[in-house]
Amino acid sequence: MMEAETTTKDIDKVMNNAWKAFHEYRKLPLKKRADFMRAMAVALEEGGDTLLEIAVSETNLPLARLRNERTRTAFQLTSYADACERGNWLEATIDTKHDENNKPLPGLRKMQVPLGPVVVFGASNFPFAYSTAGGDTACALAAGCPVIVKAHPAHAKTSDWVADIILQTARILNLPDGIFTHVHGGNETGKQLVQHPYTKAVGFTGSFAGGMALYNFANQRKDPIPVFAEMGSVNPVFILPGKIREDAETLAKNMAVSITLGSGQFCTNPGLMIAIKSEELDRFMSLLGEQIRLTEPATMLHPGIYNSYVEKREIALSQAKVETVAVAEHDALGNQGTPTIASVDAAAFIQNNLLHKEVFGPYSLMIQCDNLEQMQAVALSIEGQLTASVMATENDLHENVLLIESIKNICGRLVLNGVPTGVEVCQAMHHGGPFPATTDSRFTSVGADGIKRFSRPICFQNWSNDFLPEELKNENPLHIYRTVNNVLTKDPLI
Ligand code: NAP
Repeated sequence: MMEAETTTKDIDKVMNNAWKAFHEYRKLPLKKRADFMRAMAVALEEGGDTLLEIAVSETNLPLARLRNERTRTAFQLTSYADACERGNWLEATIDTKHDENNKPLPGLRKMQVPLGPVVVFGASNFPFAYSTAGGDTACALAAGCPVIVKAHPAHAKTSDWVADIILQTARILNLPDGIFTHVHGGNETGKQLVQHPYTKAVGFTGSFAGGMALYNFANQRKDPIPVFAEMGSVNPVFILPGKIREDAETLAKNMAVSITLGSGQFCTNPGLMIAIKSEELDRFMSLLGEQIRLTEPATMLHPGIYNSYVEKREIALSQAKVETVAVAEHDALGNQGTPTIASVDAAAFIQNNLLHKEVFGPYSLMIQCDNLEQMQAVALSIEGQLTASVMATENDLHENVLLIESIKNICGRLVLNGVPTGVEVCQAMHHGGPFPATTDSRFTSVGADGIKRFSRPICFQNWSNDFLPEELKNENPLHIYRTVNNVLTKDPLI
């Protein structure tokens, strides 16, 4: 582990080690990779309260929330380990012909192989789940890639502890040196890591500016590499007329909780609401305002995030036609973010791109539309998002097919009658979305499908059984699902 600012010489050494480790690690059986990840999960939980207390002191997040987040991180490691062994992510595909004795000929056989060393930039708002031993690290290790984590300065000590746990686990299991490295440093270190010739992919969670900087560094290389950057979202919530008439109270309560959860510091925070002007909407806004006024402000992750919230909130509230609807009544102390909701006319929103941007914190803007056509125009004006939600009755859904189609176009996860906060870790989850929510809408950063980000296909043509990897041999010794002559099966080829 590198303690101080990492120099160019250090980076070269780290990357050379990672490259060397790659050639050993990629050859290890899937079971060994999975065992490593499961052992990491156990060791992480064994970090006990001491580790949690360090994280509390660095992030201001409550102990209970961090305990849950660590359990979630351990679950990510074990569930991605299971997926790694199940092997569906390998997408093993075999197209054969048979000889005159009906014996399978080599034909064409395809599978996913690891990309190479992956550089991971952890998130400030998830010190465990999207950081050192978080989702990107777990996916890259499952794919067979060594990982180099650049510690987030907002929780550097927590990151050190977790890195020690990973390194110790790797040592106990006799895994190659260089399979995991933890470095500290500023923007220049990040740039050099992304541009090092032995880096083959990047995982990132954070701001649009940060994600795009890394994406551009990667594209300036002689050999551009993929950057999987998750850069935030305003997660619009479309509230249709039938639903607001039916249950304004529950809607207002649920929205207030979602807007202020974790002081709004989630990439799935609902930063925009869209509804049609009506008496029911006025009532909903008044109920939501009541909830927001009663919410106690909470301390934000670090002074940088707090200052950015104060600045972006002020800019948003000062735009033409924006009205402040409700502000928390409790005094905000220190770095506490003040829960706030505002409202704007749809025409003003469509014209003013600044209002489309993320205000990272407990803030949400209601866009008031004249009619359904204008709501459709708002949907068309919104950029790519991680999530969009539709609050609707069955009748609303039948009557607004075109609107729903437009919303599908802008998001990676479409929620019906639920809030966007809360991202379940399972295979069917998609945590991604069209640019600018991410740099590659085809992939997810939550759920075992995220492993695919760090692999690429290779097709073997005419290779006889003895020389094929285990995954593609006639006998199917790993007993994985494969698509053989267009049929998904675990059967061996005979
Ligand atoms: P950040 O500024 O994007 O930083 C995240 C990581 O990227 C850090 O390790 C940082 O390294 C690196 N980085 C950023 N800009 C870079 C550059 N130009 N060159 C090289 N490396 C760079 O995110 P943050 O510190 O977590 O929070 C800042 C803002 O991001 C928040 O106020 C919020 O708006 C947004 N945010 C969004 C999400 C989300 O999920 N959408 C999550 C967290 C934060 P250094 O430490 O060297 O700068």
